[in-house]
Amino acid sequence: MNDNLKIYARKPAKCPQCKHSPVASILYGHPAFDDDFALKMEQGRIALGGCCIAVNPGAALPRWQCSQCKLEMYRRQDVEQAQQEQETR
Ligand SMILES: [Zn+2]
Repeated sequence: MNDNLKIYARKPAKCPQCKHSPVASILYGHPAFDDDFALKMEQGRIALGGCCIAVNPGAALPRWQCSQCKLEMYRRQDVEQAQQEQETR
């Protein structure tokens, strides 16, 4: 079921789809909107995941996103953890 997910052990240096660099880290929750944050948003180094995300139970959240083509990438650890939670249910 996770066949089409882009899963990486660590943050890819550039987007596997469009080769855009840098890849943004997705922040969840309510980050502080300071100058540093605004700058990183502008540079495409971070992206917002939203504060109220509806997810399927046991599904991992994407950890990184390409600011250009919006491709979402997952961290291997997150996916494995989600799968384990699903199995023990
Ligand atoms: Zn891309």
